[in-house]
Amino acid sequence: MKVFENISLKPYNTFGIDVKARRVVVLEPGDDLSGKWKVESGKCLVIGAGSNMVFTKDYEGTVITLSKTFHLSPFTSHLVTAWGGMVMDDLIQWTLDHGLYGLENLSAIPGTVGASAVQNVGAYGAEAKDFIERVEAYDLQERRHCTFSNADCHFAYRDSFFKHHPGRYLILRVTYRLSREFVPNLSYKALEGLPHDTAQQLREAITEVRWNKLPRPEEHGSAGSFFKNPVVDESTYLRLKAEYPDMPDAHRSDNGYKLSAGWLIDRAGWKGRTQGRAGVWPKNALVLYNADGCSGDEVRALAAAIQQDVKQKFGVALDPEAIII
Ligand SMILES: Cc1cc2nc3c(=O)[nH]c(=O)nc-3n(C[C@H](O)[C@H](O)[C@H](O)COP(=O)(O)OP(=O)(O)OC[C@H]3O[C@@H](n4cnc5c(N)ncnc54)[C@H](O)[C@@H]3O)c2cc1C
Repeated sequence: MKVFENISLKPYNTFGIDVKARRVVVLEPGDDLSGKWKVESGKCLVIGAGSNMVFTKDYEGTVITLSKTFHLSPFTSHLVTAWGGMVMDDLIQWTLDHGLYGLENLSAIPGTVGASAVQNVGAYGAEAKDFIERVEAYDLQERRHCTFSNADCHFAYRDSFFKHHPGRYLILRVTYRLSREFVPNLSYKALEGLPHDTAQQLREAITEVRWNKLPRPEEHGSAGSFFKNPVVDESTYLRLKAEYPDMPDAHRSDNGYKLSAGWLIDRAGWKGRTQGRAGVWPKNALVLYNADGCSGDEVRALAAAIQQDVKQKFGVALDPEAIII
C-alpha cells in the first residue's frame, strides 16, 4: 500500500484534468485492508483509470485506487478471476492467448477490471454483464469482504448496484465466465464485413475501428462517450422519425426506444465545435474532449450547452454517462 498526500490527479484521469486530492491510497493485491487505514464517511472516491470521470474541483477526501498490477487468481477451465486494478484490455488479450472467448468485442475500452463491473461496460453488441460471474468487494463502510453474484449486481445499461453506492464498495476481484469455443458475436451492424476467422482477428479489427473514431487518451483527453443514448417513448420516437427521416432507427428495448445521442448532437450542429478549451470530437459527436488543457468546468459548461440545445431542438433530454466530480 502506498499513500500520497496532496497530489495532482492529472495522471489518474484520462481527461487530463489537473486537480488535487488530499490523499491518494494505492493498494496492491494481497494488501490487508482491515483496520490499517480509515476513510471518513462520504469523503472517499474509488478511481480505476479515471477514464469515465471529469473533475471540476480539488478532491478534499481520500482517493482509493488499485495498482494496475497484472494479477489473476488460479483459474478453472471457464472461469477467470482478475484483480480489480488490472487493465481490462490486458485481461482480454490474455484470455484470447489462453483460448478463452467472449470478451473480444469489448477490446480497447479504456479502464480497469473493477470498473467493468461498476459501469457494465459495453461495445459492439456485448456488455460486461454477459460474462461476469461474481464480484468480490471490500465494504468500506462495514469493513468486511463481500461477494456479489451476477444477479446481485443489478446490471443495466451502463449501470449496476455499485453505481448507486459510490465510495462504499471497493471491487477487488471480478470473475468472468468465458467460453472455450469462439463464436463470433457480429450482431452489431458496424461489425459487418470485419475479419472474424479468429477472435484475435476480430479483436484487432474492432480495436482499429474504435481508434479511428475516438481520441487516443495519450493525444487528447476524454472520457469516451460523454452522454448515454436516451431512451424515449414510442410517440416521441415516431414524431422524431417523421420529422427527421435520416435519423437512425432506434433500438427497441423493454423501457422504450433507444436513440443515438451522437446523431442528435451531430444534427444539432455540435460536431467539431469547441467552447473555451473543451470540444466535441470531429469524428464522433458523442465524445467531448480536452482541446487544450481545459478545466472540468469548461467541460461541464460545454455539456450543459449541448443538453440545452438538444432539448430545445428535439425535445429529448441527454444524461451524462461520464461521472462529474
Ligand atoms: C476513449 C474512451 C473510449 C471509451 N469507450 C467506451 C465504450 O466503448 N464502452 C463503455 O462502456 N465505456 C467506454 N469508455 C468509458 C470507460 O472506459 C469505462 O467507463 C471504464 O469502465 C472506466 O474504467 P476506469 O477504470 O477508468 O473507471 P473510472 O473512470 O476510474 O471509474 C468509473 C466508476 O467506477 C468506479 N470504480 C472504478 N474502479 C472501481 C473499483 N475497483 N471498485 C469500486 N468502484 C470502482 C468509480 O468510483 C466510478 O464510479 C470509454 C472511455 C474513453 C476514454
